[in-house]
Amino acid sequence: MRCVLRPALLLAVATLAAAEPRPLIIAHRGASGYLPEHTLAAKALAYGQGADFLEQDVVLSKDGVPVVFHDTHIDTTTDVAKKFPGRQRTDGRFYALDFTVAELKQLNVSERFNAQTGKATFPQRFPVGIGSFQVVTFEEEIRFVQGLNRSTGRNVGIYPELKAPAWHRKEGRDLAAVVLPILRKYGYDAKDTACYVQCFEYAEIKRLRGELGWSGKLIMLLGGKGKGPGETDFTYLQTDAGLAELAKLVDGIGAPISSHVTGKSPSERQVTDLAGRARKAGLKSHPYTLRADELPKSVKDADELVRVLFDEAKVDGLFTDFPDLCIRHLKR
Ligand code: CA
Repeated sequence: MRCVLRPALLLAVATLAAAEPRPLIIAHRGASGYLPEHTLAAKALAYGQGADFLEQDVVLSKDGVPVVFHDTHIDTTTDVAKKFPGRQRTDGRFYALDFTVAELKQLNVSERFNAQTGKATFPQRFPVGIGSFQVVTFEEEIRFVQGLNRSTGRNVGIYPELKAPAWHRKEGRDLAAVVLPILRKYGYDAKDTACYVQCFEYAEIKRLRGELGWSGKLIMLLGGKGKGPGETDFTYLQTDAGLAELAKLVDGIGAPISSHVTGKSPSERQVTDLAGRARKAGLKSHPYTLRADELPKSVKDADELVRVLFDEAKVDGLFTDFPDLCIRHLKR
């Protein structure tokens, strides 16, 4: 039966949606606890596990195409050193920016490993070098997510991070100027769409809202303490004055879990007031990153960390390599 909603009721529905009644589960590089990060397989698994948002880290290729990689260098997640020997820079690293998309497509993406020793970063995870996984362009991934949204009837969002904008600028490239038109093309340039853009660099956040006219949702990523790149003072930005300043530009903050929950053991655990102070300033809190195989000492297991973050710290979302563990908590 067709349901006709009256305007007052429509407004109530929109408000409910805006309030996000439960914390958002953000799949960190996909369900990267189970499959190599930033592969479409890891994204599909996270989608199937029930994640609300899938994260993309974005850097540029040599031919100026945004590609999905966590790092500017690509030798810890691909076989680039074997396929393109001699193409490293003087620091010994291989950079996405030095390879065309056609070249990047020849690589096999692997579970993360140490480029010197070849050993797995997370030994209990998917085996290093196993499987056939391709590098993904940002636009390919958006089409993939939107295709799944069409076939399932869900509206899972994207959560792109602009990686190292200041470094790209030094290399003569403007990452945001390439990424924003793609987001606009796919309909993500408004606050009510399922997209959060995130960045660690305050200068770039200011530029996104100013010069570049970005009107969609924005998240300021915060390191623990001290200074970051691009005029970023993480210590100041977590003060009440800093949060009030941020609230004029962004919709929320993404701080490390250690900024919300501290303590050297479960009995010494303390929940900080960061999420509460952020909320008072009008900001959401989406901390990073829940990893079942890299837990802080303040909790006994992943379940406890999810419970503390959601029920005590009262965060609004959570980046996780293990979306299923967080969904399981919400279903209980
Ligand atoms: Ca990221």
